[in-house]
Amino acid sequence: NAKKQGRNRYFWFENAMESELRYRSEMEVGVRQGIARGEFVPYYQPQVDMGTGRVLGFEMLARWHSPVFGVVEPDAFIPIAEEIGVIAELSEGLIARALEDARGWDPSLTLSVNISPVQLRDPWFAQKLLKLLTASTFPANRLEIEITETCLHQNVAMVSTLITSLKNQGISVSLDDFGTGYSSLSQLRKLPFDRIKIDRSFVTALPRDDDSQTIVSTIAALGAGLGMPITAEGVEDEAVLAQLAQIGSFRAQGYHFGRPVDAAKTRDLLAAQGLLVAAHGDTHLAAQ
Ligand code: C2E
Ligand code: MG
Ligand code: MG
Ligand code: MG
Repeated sequence: NAKKQGRNRYFWFENAMESELRYRSEMEVGVRQGIARGEFVPYYQPQVDMGTGRVLGFEMLARWHSPVFGVVEPDAFIPIAEEIGVIAELSEGLIARALEDARGWDPSLTLSVNISPVQLRDPWFAQKLLKLLTASTFPANRLEIEITETCLHQNVAMVSTLITSLKNQGISVSLDDFGTGYSSLSQLRKLPFDRIKIDRSFVTALPRDDDSQTIVSTIAALGAGLGMPITAEGVEDEAVLAQLAQIGSFRAQGYHFGRPVDAAKTRDLLAAQGLLVAAHGDTHLAAQ
């Protein structure tokens, strides 16, 4: 009987593996096709000034409008795109669309985009980004690149050179998900980041957890000391905002201010706040 059970378990395991493999290969095919068919779309989440609530910019967050899987979040497709070698193509397509969308926004607003560690290893990365900027006429000094702390496990010298060359072009670089990636303080000092984004796990836990209070305050002090302003992500509700306000006033992002939405909804949001510039087709009308 034990033997039979073992066999059953073996078959169960084999089936689970088979369906896992099938899912993987469907996803891989889907991602490739999705890129070709333009199914990947930029969503935007507002970043606001905590004190005034004023919108300062948006972070672009990728979504896959898949005819098979529905609306898919990035954690499910970015790793696959990285593995099958299409992340650069995917990302460049999204950035091009985002730069186009952002041309209609008020010139005070910034656009942040996430970059994969795979892209950072490409020696032509900065060049490619500049080409996209030139093609769109979106000003470099309104673009911010976000790289996650885990990227620093790669070559610190290489990342440092890249940040410097992007900064020389006017592009800002921020350190995303700070506090989760075990980067050392001496590394941080060597890298000329423009901004630190505190990982949302610490921020969302603020109302419940004393340790998070300490961690967020410490990161805020560190940022102040290094001359790197802070963005707090994961401001989910009034309680989190109130706790955060005890510590300081930061650029903030989270469901409390707005979830990521598509380009059209972003325009609606901006129109309501008078932060939309007239589209080229509208200038004639506006002049009348
Ligand atoms: P991230 O850059 O740290 O982005 C913030 C994530 O937190 C987003 O998840 C956002 O929807 C979510 N979030 C924002 N506010 C709140 C909140 O108040 N509460 C909670 N619980 N979550 C909140 P999302 O959109 O699922 O993206 C996940 C990650 O995927 C991003 O984390 C980023 O690392 C990556 N990603 C997204 N778009 C791209 C892309 O175009 N390229 C690359 N390489 N990575 C991307
Ligand atoms: Mg998500
Ligand atoms: Mg980010
Ligand atoms: Mg983050």
